[in-house]
Amino acid sequence: MPLPPNTHEERFLEDVIKAFPVAPSNQSKKLLEKAYNTALKAHEGQTRASGVPYIQHCLATAQILAGIGLDARTVAAGLLHDVPEDTDVTLEDLEKEFGTDIANMIEGITKLGTMKLQLNAEEYRLENWRRMFLAMGEDIRTVIIKLADRLHNMRTLGHLRPEKQQRIAHETMEIFVPIANRLGIGEIRAALAENAFRYLDPGNYRETKEIRAETLSRSSAYIDRAIDELSALLKDKGVRVVDMHGRAKALYSLYLKIKKYEGDIDRVYDIIALRIIVPDVSTCYKTLGILHSTYKPMVGRIKDYISLPKPNGYQSLHTTIFGPEKRILEIQVRTKQMHDEAELGIAAHWLYEEKKNQSWRNYLDPRKKKTEVNHEVMWARQLQEWQRDLGNNPDEFIDGIKMDFLKNHIFAYTPKGDVIELPEGATIVDFAYAIHTDIGNTATGARTSGKMVSLDTTVQNGQVIEIITDKNRKKPNADWLQFVKTSHAKSAIRRQNKIENQD
Ligand code: MN
Repeated sequence: MPLPPNTHEERFLEDVIKAFPVAPSNQSKKLLEKAYNTALKAHEGQTRASGVPYIQHCLATAQILAGIGLDARTVAAGLLHDVPEDTDVTLEDLEKEFGTDIANMIEGITKLGTMKLQLNAEEYRLENWRRMFLAMGEDIRTVIIKLADRLHNMRTLGHLRPEKQQRIAHETMEIFVPIANRLGIGEIRAALAENAFRYLDPGNYRETKEIRAETLSRSSAYIDRAIDELSALLKDKGVRVVDMHGRAKALYSLYLKIKKYEGDIDRVYDIIALRIIVPDVSTCYKTLGILHSTYKPMVGRIKDYISLPKPNGYQSLHTTIFGPEKRILEIQVRTKQMHDEAELGIAAHWLYEEKKNQSWRNYLDPRKKKTEVNHEVMWARQLQEWQRDLGNNPDEFIDGIKMDFLKNHIFAYTPKGDVIELPEGATIVDFAYAIHTDIGNTATGARTSGKMVSLDTTVQNGQVIEIITDKNRKKPNADWLQFVKTSHAKSAIRRQNKIENQD
């Protein structure tokens, strides 16, 4: 499901409807038509900076949303997202016409957009973050609409004044790219980063683009031959391949990688990688085994993101082999669902769940068990919790959440094998609180690899940790505040010790 093309042609409602991965029902089409007509009438006479009718922006936003797998209601909200702010039609009017759910989403976006207060640059940044986090805790669809809105604005940024281009590109890189990344929407993250990169660092943007184009033209015939050879090999071994294709690395990620290797492009093996999509997880491992017994793998380049997913939920097996014709080739093996989730993130999850007739709202139902919801949503739910705890001190709320949000994450396990996700640098106490508040409150020590460790020990990725508790313990030690890293642990310790929220 690729993002809709960045076209300069006139868009119509039909383009939005065609962008849905699964054709919408007649009822959904009616809703979209009604939303389109309302937006068209409301924005009548308004134009974009480029001179095109304003409705083009609404259609482009809606098309992106449909393309990444969101439902008709969210796409309708995308069509209407600028109506209350920019036209005479009010939110109350929209609520009467479209109901509370759609009106709430539009209200959320309007709240994100209006910053009429007099703020300095730093206050503006904080306020921006605060609003995004609040919106995420309330209804994550609002944030996804905002991302689609921003992507179209980035694609048409050339029509604005240079100072405005810089400000918006900077804000995109600082706020919207990490959010898209955290939500696992790889396609939007890559497109936002690429467009921001173009304005923030035009020289490196052009150079990286050239490097990628050169590699592509040098390797595309080879990739075709490799696909033929590997397809024949896997077929011979009885592996059903759903799809095999070459992929070029996203431009900004490529730039960062080249920078990491200090410009040594020969060490970047995944400018083009080969993706193999297979039916299920066991076939992923079988495929990897066949590849490694046929081609020599490169040492230290095998990554099992299926059993240890990346922090944003990304799953795949990666390996670099001395492949066909002895050329170095990175290969990524994954299932169709992993593939869709890598491209669409939280939206893909919704797409898969919808088949089981679950509504989006269910994800935020706190009575649901952790295992029933995916981890982006868990995280959004946790956000709501923190918000309640820290509601009276917004600055600390933002600092804490940013810390949890932007840090690299690691995974550790309980002795029963439950996976606990933590920001890098988190301690045993953070781990205990992440399992359950009561476990955090009564923790006295921990055991890992058969050894006792102190509560301030830093958790390592992949560690199995057993927390030792004492049920008679009345409250957690306030001194733990000196070393805990997560907002969740901090607020729980404060709450139990009745300490005011302040640093
Ligand atoms: Mn907009």
